Amino acid sequence: MTTAIYPGSFDPITNGHLDIIRRASSLFDELIIGVYDRSEKQLLFNTEERVEMVQRAVAHLSNVRVQSYSGLTVEFAKKVSAQVMVRGLRMSSDFEREFEMAMMNKKLAPGLELVCFMASLQYQFLASSLLKEVAKLEGCLDNMVPEHVVTALRDKFARELCRE
Ligand code: ADP
Repeated sequence: MTTAIYPGSFDPITNGHLDIIRRASSLFDELIIGVYDRSEKQLLFNTEERVEMVQRAVAHLSNVRVQSYSGLTVEFAKKVSAQVMVRGLRMSSDFEREFEMAMMNKKLAPGLELVCFMASLQYQFLASSLLKEVAKLEGCLDNMVPEHVVTALRDKFARELCRE
């Protein structure tokens, strides 16, 4: 049985992430989505909110589960007995960073295999960071995130506006 992890911030989950999840879940027996529980990164949603949004988005996939983790990703992989780590690559922008991380992870955990999925054409330019900018400026989020994430983004920015 092959278990894979798909780690990330998912702040918030997008249709680009979901495309990778769908494709990876059809290749591996079990896919565990690891949601980084990190405080040093400036994130819009807290860990609980991010986990909940991912859970709702993958509820229809029976071999996918969601877990938050802190510390090294390779340690998380070891904890859940994963043999594979999944990442998504968009154009050239992701490659350098992913390559660097992959080399370090290989040193830390030689037995953990990395499998990168090329982002599908329609999601090449979809990034959580850009999406948050669009949401903040009340732009249209059609086909970029699931409906419950649109609602969560609208609520978050509406609350921010109220505080200002
Ligand atoms: P991180 O903080 O680890 O970059 P992200 O949530 O931004 O976390 O991304 C998690 C993984 O998903 C990364 O491998 C990233 O390159 C990939 N990814 C992000 N957006 C997309 C997309 N639109 N299509 C395919 N893969 C993506």
